[in-house]
Amino acid sequence: MRINGRKSFMFPCVFFVLLMLIFSKSMKILNVNNSINMMAAPSTKEIDEQDAYNKHIPLKKYYIVIDPGHGGIDKGTSYGNMYEKNLTLKIARYAASYLKNKGSVVFLTRNEDKLLGLDEIGDKVNSSYADVFVSIHVNSLNDKSFGGITTLYYDANGYQKDERIKLAKAIEKESVKNDNWENRGIKRQNLAVLRYSKIPGVLVECGFITNPQDRIRLSNEDVLKKLGQNISNGIIDYLNENNKK
Ligand SMILES: [Zn+2]
Repeated sequence: MRINGRKSFMFPCVFFVLLMLIFSKSMKILNVNNSINMMAAPSTKEIDEQDAYNKHIPLKKYYIVIDPGHGGIDKGTSYGNMYEKNLTLKIARYAASYLKNKGSVVFLTRNEDKLLGLDEIGDKVNSSYADVFVSIHVNSLNDKSFGGITTLYYDANGYQKDERIKLAKAIEKESVKNDNWENRGIKRQNLAVLRYSKIPGVLVECGFITNPQDRIRLSNEDVLKKLGQNISNGIIDYLNENNKK
């Protein structure tokens, strides 16, 4: 009875030890695989920056000034009852609300139908200590065949030249992403509003009011909204790129 008893006790013991050996070996394999995966995966910082760039998520809280061109007695360019001053305010408001939703602080130089002097705009921009300044306008030309979006920049004696070009390129690239806007590229132009700005600033000419296709786009509220959002995405991309370092 005693021998039989020892045998029946030994069997489960050996079985248990064998099980433990197999189990611990498979655990080791799992651990090795896990550590390999961990080593191959990009760091959290790399994921965040790539993701932020693709989805236009601000890497930090940004301060942005948006200037809706013209206002009050200065209606800007027009076609029938379509006034530049109203279009610029709409696009600027769409941009502002989109940027605010993404956690940025946005200042509008005007949020009503009011005329501001160029020096007044300059003072508002420079006293804001914002990261960037973007002025919104709509173009016009006698030649009705001209259409599309142009982003203008200006560097006085090379002042912030690289930043201003980068900002213009980022905005131009994003602004034409929807609604078949023609990409007219970026252009250096000596404009007072850009010359006064001490922070990187550009002026976006949002289509030609004189071009029939652009006019259809500009009379569509959804297009104006998308344009405001896309200009904002360009601003975020530029600021994220600058804040990577
Ligand atoms: Zn204008």
